[in-house]
Amino acid sequence: MAAEMFPSYPPELSQTQLSYLLQALTDYSLSHGLNVRPAESFISEKLSPNGALATHAPVTLFPSPFPRSCWEEGRAVQKDYNELYARVAGNEEWLEKIMVELSEVDDFTARLYKVHLDVKTEGFVQPLSLGLFRSDYMIHIAPEHPNALPVIHQVEFNTIASSFGSLSTKVSELHKHLAETGAYPSDSIIKPENIPVSPALQELAKGLVIAHRAYGSGGDGRSTAVFMIIQPGEKNVFDQRWLEYELFEKHGVQTYRISLPDVPKLTELVSGTRALIYSPPHAPNTQVEISTVYFRAGYGPGDYAGEGDWAARTTLERSKAIKCPSVITQLAGAKKIQQVLATGGAVEGFLPDQSVSSRVRGTFAAIHPLDQSPAGMAARKIALEKPDTYVLKPQREGGGNNIYRGDIPSFLKSIPESHWSGYILMELIEPPPLENTIIRNGELMSGGVIGELGVYGAILWRDGEGEERGKGLKEIVMNEEAGWLLRTKGRQSDEGGVAAGFGSVDAVLMV
Ligand code: ADP
Ligand code: MG
Ligand code: MG
Repeated sequence: MAAEMFPSYPPELSQTQLSYLLQALTDYSLSHGLNVRPAESFISEKLSPNGALATHAPVTLFPSPFPRSCWEEGRAVQKDYNELYARVAGNEEWLEKIMVELSEVDDFTARLYKVHLDVKTEGFVQPLSLGLFRSDYMIHIAPEHPNALPVIHQVEFNTIASSFGSLSTKVSELHKHLAETGAYPSDSIIKPENIPVSPALQELAKGLVIAHRAYGSGGDGRSTAVFMIIQPGEKNVFDQRWLEYELFEKHGVQTYRISLPDVPKLTELVSGTRALIYSPPHAPNTQVEISTVYFRAGYGPGDYAGEGDWAARTTLERSKAIKCPSVITQLAGAKKIQQVLATGGAVEGFLPDQSVSSRVRGTFAAIHPLDQSPAGMAARKIALEKPDTYVLKPQREGGGNNIYRGDIPSFLKSIPESHWSGYILMELIEPPPLENTIIRNGELMSGGVIGELGVYGAILWRDGEGEERGKGLKEIVMNEEAGWLLRTKGRQSDEGGVAAGFGSVDAVLMV
């Protein structure tokens, strides 16, 4: 659509224009912290002692045209999605059957679910939960109605470690700045007023602040702070740091970064209240009470090196701190849940207002189970015989886990049939053709690209207490749309993860 509507996009540049634009883009990005640490394969640890070197994040040279109606629709439906997933996480009766079945075929799900059940047995001490979610979409044009308006179809819904919020703000500011200062050809369609700046950095920080305040004051006169659970050796640190700086500079809230292996060494739970107490190693004799635990790690099996890390996750879950997310909320973000919501008619049960549920439903793509139900058996046949328009997904996060098209049959045959139900089969969304240039580590890659819009949401809710826990959420304390992200990848690449090395951050050019 976009390329046909704008056959000359992106604009052609002379060598002089390109050099000017590249220099402007690089310098602006580096000066404004649109940065990542380079991969070790690019710059060895030796050449970057103490992480001294950074590079700008992979970005597009131009903002990508994106239909305004699609961008608006993604934003408009976000609060409904927040509520849907909060209600799913709060309804354990509904989740139980799915989690038990998944646990039989997926060790990671089983382990997480066990952490939840163990803490449930003991009893939760914190009724509040925070979700900083991101719902991801691609533009879909129905092949049978090529002239119909484009719509968005959901790729997935993330309930843990939804990243790139800060960089999405920075990259939209970058492209807007380049447009404002005439770095793009003046006769192109790139106008600053058509590049909205994503407020994700400010809005996600606000979500954390609201949780932090809702926690209340620390016991025994202790000061309170936020925990960010991070992966050792994280490269996407600046995206995280910007949230910390926003929290501190705008809201006076301190954040401490900690990895799961350090949790047992540096924290303890107050007996009785289970307040989570942190002893910062750099500040002897200081004790801080943690109000909110924000996970930017812990979403995949690779984040748990051994029993110690599982014990750490369990300690955090048991604690009085507000979790972002709780284990059950993380599990609610499973691909399997997305499939059940899309096929099972369950949405209406969680969102009884028909106009709300149908708006949510309007963004679903076709997703099939691969279990032994009639629908699952039919999907198995498709997966083995006609997989060319499908992607197979395991219950994993973070990119690089899916199996595409012709690879599906041999992959399925390589694993026990009893494990197939741990996967879902999803129709590939095929967005209209578009071109752009991606700059990664100073290198330019031009050609066909695919964009993925992520819309952030922030929601704080209260679950029932005691026996009432898990029987449906009690109160939504805050529910907001929290900005957006456009990620763009080369058309030839199936996966789009920026951190995983496939994609770039981009800005919406409303058309
Ligand atoms: P993850 O949780 O690992 O990010 P995703 O479901 O987002 O898993 O899949 C990773 C990537 O695979 C997406 O960013 C997208 O580029 C591609 N992808 C996933 N599902 C689809 C789909 N239905 N159609 C087209 N591309 C898809
Ligand atoms: Mg995901
Ligand atoms: Mg994804």
